[in-house]
Amino acid sequence: TPEDRDTLLRAMQLISDQYFEILDSGRSDDAKIARDYLAKRGIDDENRKRFQIGFAPDEWSFAVDLLAKHQFSGDVAQAAGIASAKKSGNGHVDMFRGRLMFPIHDLQNRPIALGGRIIPAIGDRHGDKAGPKYINGRETLLFRKSHQLYGLQLARDAIRRNGEVLVMEGYTDVVAARQAGVESAVAVLGTALGEQHVKILKRFAQRVVLVLDGDNAGQTRADQVLELFVGADVDLRVLTLPEGSDPADYLESAGRESFDRLVTDAPDALDHKLSRLTEGIDFTRDTHAVTTAVDTMLKIVAKAPPSLRVDQLLVRLSRSFELKTERLERRLDALREE
Ligand code: ATP
Ligand code: MN
Ligand code: MN
Ligand code: MN
Repeated sequence: TPEDRDTLLRAMQLISDQYFEILDSGRSDDAKIARDYLAKRGIDDENRKRFQIGFAPDEWSFAVDLLAKHQFSGDVAQAAGIASAKKSGNGHVDMFRGRLMFPIHDLQNRPIALGGRIIPAIGDRHGDKAGPKYINGRETLLFRKSHQLYGLQLARDAIRRNGEVLVMEGYTDVVAARQAGVESAVAVLGTALGEQHVKILKRFAQRVVLVLDGDNAGQTRADQVLELFVGADVDLRVLTLPEGSDPADYLESAGRESFDRLVTDAPDALDHKLSRLTEGIDFTRDTHAVTTAVDTMLKIVAKAPPSLRVDQLLVRLSRSFELKTERLERRLDALREE
């Protein structure tokens, strides 16, 4: 039945294996196109296998039919997030058609969801009906995106070893990182890093490096995550990649050593925020802008319980702007009362 987790797990395993097999064998013309696309992106066989990357045929009911053959109903396919109910009439259609498939595994290495990327040469056939670049699995009984991180099952040991986890934005970033030898990378799945993710990551590491694409979306994400972390007792660093590049791009163009240096040098999240707030301000002349920036910082830390990090920030603020720490403390106390 569609309400049974075990049924859904078996359905997911079946379809994930099948998508992998299709790409792996490369027998159909489309599977060859998909393999070429992967090759062009520089993803090698070892990592294609490691991440179980597959291909969903460009058909309306490949997955639905395969599952039916194995006694899984259309309702099960829908509950597993592989199919959706037809808009008119009965029956179900596949969620993923003609896409490169990234299975999402739980910590026991069982596939619990799928994400699919469009392949240009195949998507182009469908013109403006090709759909979005990525289709991320919707939430199911097995899959909650607020609790799940792509690649964690593979990265877990390295994260423990390094005491550090790199959180990236995309599947391809994690795969490219792994291929470059960066083993402690995971990705969020179509959502911002949240409280539940942090709880899970804290079991494995004290330090979280948020690795953001060098685009506007990346910056907005840094801001969203900051407040969450101030109170979370985790060492959060923020690495914003150069304009226009993401981890996969950067590793390809600049190489592993250069990437590692960026990670090592990534500033603490509060420092990152402060330098963004004070970018381009002339401290000696624009006292109003200084007050505003300082107040914004204090408002962020006011939401967190007192801690060494908060104290350190106050010292930094007072040094940078030549303000008395007592004044900052009083303002912080006032904000906490609010
Ligand atoms: P690629 O290199 O294949 O273009 P990417 O990971 O660099 O992929 P981004 O555009 O940076 O892609 O987006 C990061 C993540 O955001 C994706 O991995 C995906 O999970 C999600 N995403 C991107 N575009 C979409 C979309 N149109 N619809 C839903 N989710 C998306
Ligand atoms: Mn991006
Ligand atoms: Mn990319
Ligand atoms: Mn990207």
